Amino acid sequence: MGKRLSIAKALLRVGGGSLSRLINRDLLLIFGYHRVRPAGSLETPFDEGVFGPSPQELHRHIELLKKFTTVLGEADLIAAVRGDPLPGNGPYSMITFDDAYVDNFELALPVLQELSVPATFFVPAHLIENRQLGWWDQIAFVVKNCKMPSIQFRGETIDLAGRRQDAIRGFFNMMKLMPHTQTSSLIEELSEAAESPAPTTDLMDRELMSWDQLAQAHKSGITLGSHTCTHRVLATLSDSEQAEEISESRRFIENRLGIQVKSIAFPVGGVRQFNRRTVELSEEAGYDLAFSFNTGAARAGAFDRYAIPRLAPPTPTDEFNALLHFPRLMDYRTTPWPGSLLRESP
Ligand SMILES: [Zn+2]
Repeated sequence: MGKRLSIAKALLRVGGGSLSRLINRDLLLIFGYHRVRPAGSLETPFDEGVFGPSPQELHRHIELLKKFTTVLGEADLIAAVRGDPLPGNGPYSMITFDDAYVDNFELALPVLQELSVPATFFVPAHLIENRQLGWWDQIAFVVKNCKMPSIQFRGETIDLAGRRQDAIRGFFNMMKLMPHTQTSSLIEELSEAAESPAPTTDLMDRELMSWDQLAQAHKSGITLGSHTCTHRVLATLSDSEQAEEISESRRFIENRLGIQVKSIAFPVGGVRQFNRRTVELSEEAGYDLAFSFNTGAARAGAFDRYAIPRLAPPTPTDEFNALLHFPRLMDYRTTPWPGSLLRESP
């Protein structure tokens, strides 16, 4: 990333900004945010990986999007898949937030309103109903609070000294890649092995939006989409479990809020976290659009409506600006250009 960032910055200094607009005219850059952290707060007892920009940083990101792209909403994309032209000129962008953290309401919504941009919040229906954080936050919490130097887990010794983040990432990978039948009790097993309790419902409740806040966000113009029921990784589930996650979440949110849900975002969303069946089931469930994640930039005129790629926005403004102007350089997945083999997939 460092070398590419330096190249992008050098290109921007010599006027590459206007050139990039020209060569990226057909791109649709959809950013998938998670949390907005309070200004000055650098730590969370939960997952650091989703603890994103401050409100000020988000403000700068969106100013850049407004300056260099046409910011689209869900309705524009739905119109486009039905054959209407996109409004304004490319490059295009779209702003999305996953997981329905309370900071999306308290810190992101005021920024989105101030700058008058459309955005979509993707809601994990049953997690919100049951006031539960997703597995990544619970795992991070348990490992961070473990007082032992190592954890014995399924016959392996996992060292924590200086390697706590690696351990957390290792457990995340199990959740992302192993069949759900092998990870359904992972948090309890880990909590026991680490002698570190999972977060209480009270603690988790405070991190999440309420249905009332979601209704208010919707009233103020935010589009709400499904992020499944329980945020289990779809590719790790059986077909019938996938079908339930995809269709029941839509029904649940629609009934709870009396609104229409037209989009879904796949949990985690990388190419190994959903499959052909996920795409088919999203269409069968009646969604208009389905979004993946960490999958690059979309082409404005030619995206697969049931596997629309999204990018992870880097927090530092200079990195965000570089990705915005040079997505082909900063994120190879955008196009199959020859540099694609230079960076390995996460
Ligand atoms: Zn998510």
